[in-house]
Amino acid sequence: ARSENPLKKLNNEIFIYVAKKQREIDELKRMEQFRREFLADVSHELKTPIFAAQGFIHTLIDGAKDDEKVRDKFLQKAAKSLDGLDALVADLLTLSQIEAGEIKMHRERVDLVRITHEVIEQLETKAHNRDIRIKLTTPSDQIWVKADGYRISQALTNLIDNAIKYGRDGGKVFVTFEEDKKDWQIEVRDDGPGIPPEHLNRIFERFYRVEKSRSKEKGGTGLGLAIVKHIVNAHKSKITVMSRVDKGTAFTFKLDKVE
Ligand code: ADP
Repeated sequence: ARSENPLKKLNNEIFIYVAKKQREIDELKRMEQFRREFLADVSHELKTPIFAAQGFIHTLIDGAKDDEKVRDKFLQKAAKSLDGLDALVADLLTLSQIEAGEIKMHRERVDLVRITHEVIEQLETKAHNRDIRIKLTTPSDQIWVKADGYRISQALTNLIDNAIKYGRDGGKVFVTFEEDKKDWQIEVRDDGPGIPPEHLNRIFERFYRVEKSRSKEKGGTGLGLAIVKHIVNAHKSKITVMSRVDKGTAFTFKLDKVE
């Protein structure tokens, strides 16, 4: 009972083929658009600290150097701009490395508690300067997860660093591990000013900042959370955020358990 019209069949095949090619073209266009926007964003972000440093240095050359007080102030401002440039380039490199080798995350058996202790130790001085306490709550001294230790420590660094940067003086940062059936849930929470709801679904975008001037003042590159999201996704997990204005912000993600 095969009475299929060969012409109709061919027509169908052509239709499917064209639709597939159209999808490929759309995807290429999307990527091209992304690349173009990214390049424009990066150029803009690079220009800002360069222009600032240039401005301070030229003003010094033009005479500001003769006044000792003005000279010191301008030199410090120029140095701060260049520090920001340095941090930006470092974050851009990280982002491009992760994007290029996403499949090549080295996931192995690592101790989450040890990694977290190391991260906290590195950020202790920064927290201390703002009278912020970092509290780690863990049900055991060792927690084994399947993860890229280096990348997870980068993600934790960015989250805890943000909690300190945007937290309140004298506040607290809580790092908590909770056991689930197959994974460990990691939470980084602060009791800072929080993030207004209308910004919440945009903070993981590159260069998105709730308060541009505040982020820059604090040495932010606007790439921290974009990097965290990439790292967490590469571990087949999702990063979630909950925040309430004047109460605080909590970021969570999961990592696979191993024996
Ligand atoms: P930045 O380099 O500006 O810190 P991020 O990507 O790390 O960039 O964060 C994006 C923005 O999200 C920040 O500029 C800040 O406005 C907001 N943000 C991030 N973490 C917190 C937090 N714990 N509390 C309040 N706001 C935060």
